[in-house]
Amino acid sequence: MSSRGEPSPPAGATPQDRRTSWRITSTCRVACSTSRRRDDRIHGVAQPGRELARARELVAGATRAVALTGAGISAESGVPTFRDAGGLWHNYRPEELATVGAFERDPRTVWEWYRWRRGFVADCDPNEGHRALARFFLERGEAGIVTQNVDGLHTRAAREEAGDGPPDAALPVEIHGAIARDRCNRCGLRAEPGPEEDSLPRCEACGGMRRPDVVLFGEMLDPELLERAQSMAARADLCLVIGTSAVVYPAAGIPMTTLSAGGSIIEVNTEATGLTGVAAVALRGEAGVVLPLLLEP
Ligand SMILES: [Zn+2]
Repeated sequence: MSSRGEPSPPAGATPQDRRTSWRITSTCRVACSTSRRRDDRIHGVAQPGRELARARELVAGATRAVALTGAGISAESGVPTFRDAGGLWHNYRPEELATVGAFERDPRTVWEWYRWRRGFVADCDPNEGHRALARFFLERGEAGIVTQNVDGLHTRAAREEAGDGPPDAALPVEIHGAIARDRCNRCGLRAEPGPEEDSLPRCEACGGMRRPDVVLFGEMLDPELLERAQSMAARADLCLVIGTSAVVYPAAGIPMTTLSAGGSIIEVNTEATGLTGVAAVALRGEAGVVLPLLLEP
């Protein structure tokens, strides 16, 4: 996506200190993690206070921020990752069920599996990372959250943190859809699930078959949602990349779009990713611990 090919290191970076990494854990809130690591992208003596301060400066100086989130932030809420979600279900692998072909052949089985997965997600709550992000965007207004997660936890955090106010500024663009919502397979109308747990739900508008409103294997992402996400990233001067390795396109294009437009990237992840090398600051730790420290006044 970058028009200039390989991105350059952030301005002002030196070989000694351009990548300092650190770790925050719940038991030891800040601990050096990388001073002895042999990772080309991670240099120098860890100075967590300085890195956090640098990241907070970037946040304070940003006019418009976009956040891209992935499975890492949800895992902290106990949402199983796709492949962890109970592993095999009735001897099917997830890759066999979350496909267009499977839904066409056997929609009842695919529905049964998704209802089972909905049950997992319904038992999870937004964590302090979701809440800190929601408060940040409710206050700042621009530009917003893009998520690869289908669990709806950003939406819940936005509604809960907004209280009686409008949650809109913190509602995410869900580029992979939302597992708790239905969508008509024929006309695309989105709808809340009905009570018909044992039958195949039908669209109220056209009578077509409803499906879970998520992107299945073999499907393209919704171009309208992608366009919105890309346009948010292009307008932003800061991209927070949280709990995702962001190496798979099109999601990977979001931070690269901000970078190409002259903005900076802050990475929040428990481990180094393919994006660490181009991030202005890489903060190592759980989103639920790091984001309140990064975003709260
Ligand atoms: Zn329909």
